[in-house]
Amino acid sequence: MSVKQNFYDILGVSKTASQEEIKKSYRKLAIKYHPDKNSGNKEAEEKFKDISHAYEILSDQSKRSQYDQLGHDAFTSRGSSGPGAGYGGFEFHDPYDIFSQFFGGAGGGGGSSIFEELFSGGGRRSSNGSRDGSDLRFDIEIDFEEAVYGADKKIRIPRLETCDSCNGSGCEPGTGKSTCSKCHGTGNISMSQGFFSIRQTCPSCHGAGQMIQNPCRKCGSEGRMRVEKTLKIHIPPGVDTGSRLRVSGEGEGGVRGGNPGDLYVVVHVRAHEIFQRDGLDIICELPIDFVTAALGGLVEVPTIAGKTKLKIPEGTQNGTVLRLKGKGMPSLRGGQRGDQHIKIFVEVPTNLTNEQRDILAKFKSVQENTKNHPLIDTFFSKAKRFFTGGDEG
Ligand SMILES: [Zn+2]
Ligand SMILES: [Zn+2]
Repeated sequence: MSVKQNFYDILGVSKTASQEEIKKSYRKLAIKYHPDKNSGNKEAEEKFKDISHAYEILSDQSKRSQYDQLGHDAFTSRGSSGPGAGYGGFEFHDPYDIFSQFFGGAGGGGGSSIFEELFSGGGRRSSNGSRDGSDLRFDIEIDFEEAVYGADKKIRIPRLETCDSCNGSGCEPGTGKSTCSKCHGTGNISMSQGFFSIRQTCPSCHGAGQMIQNPCRKCGSEGRMRVEKTLKIHIPPGVDTGSRLRVSGEGEGGVRGGNPGDLYVVVHVRAHEIFQRDGLDIICELPIDFVTAALGGLVEVPTIAGKTKLKIPEGTQNGTVLRLKGKGMPSLRGGQRGDQHIKIFVEVPTNLTNEQRDILAKFKSVQENTKNHPLIDTFFSKAKRFFTGGDEG
């Protein structure tokens, strides 16, 4: 802000100005200082911006009363207010948007703003009025097994489809289009408003240059209809949560010959009771009894390809991870599979019978002075050093 002015000063209105007065003043000043009318004039550009900011605040009742309470600095201070930089605590809209909204809403008529074209630089429509359909996203939840083996799923998606009666033309079958009389087929018209001369999309034909004589009875000239479509999709083996499958051409239908969009199916895999996934590897925690852990043996383990026997080595400790090569997930891109990692959990028996107690008591009596438990031995020798060290210090 160049001079120390408040928003009322900038718009040249009093503090008690009505909304009508504020609008009227903005209309007058915004046109006067619009950069298109003052090309190359930096001062006018700054002024145009200030006017827009003032209007943005004062035309909104709640922002205006905040402004009245907190003062000008609360909205504009903090940091340097260089050109283009947003003011401190408040983020102003683009002055051109404000301008185009103001004039587009007030004059124009027919929905689209006359200034929209001028400032946004054209639309996504092609010259013949055709438009491509949007891409769609569909989220699907599948079981862990389905991620392993793949699956064929039926999904129902609501979408806009090209009308099958008029093939998207919007014309009742057997009828055609006529050249738009307003733009004479060019799709654009020139309008002058004061000093502006603006080329805008023809409001009658929306840029198509042609008018539908008899609107299609099925879709009402839209060329598309909302339908719920059932699709069969193939989930390939190896998908994971977050995998995106692209189904080409199954998005929304295009308009007037535009291409259909694509459908993206986003996969979510439900958690499994015993298997967990880590990339291509599968992790499974396997509880074994302490005798098997000590003596070793063969145990049956589940894999995604069925049961298999796993050799537990003698003296297997709790937390040991054993690997079953190639029993993991298939890769989406083909090639080798991951592995299955089996994490051993040694379960201590409970509810012992008297006979078991006797055997274990006997076992304990013969394990003295053996080197069966290196961890325990090491731990207590460290602990001993700790206590004696403490006494001496
Ligand atoms: Zn139709
Ligand atoms: Zn037209």
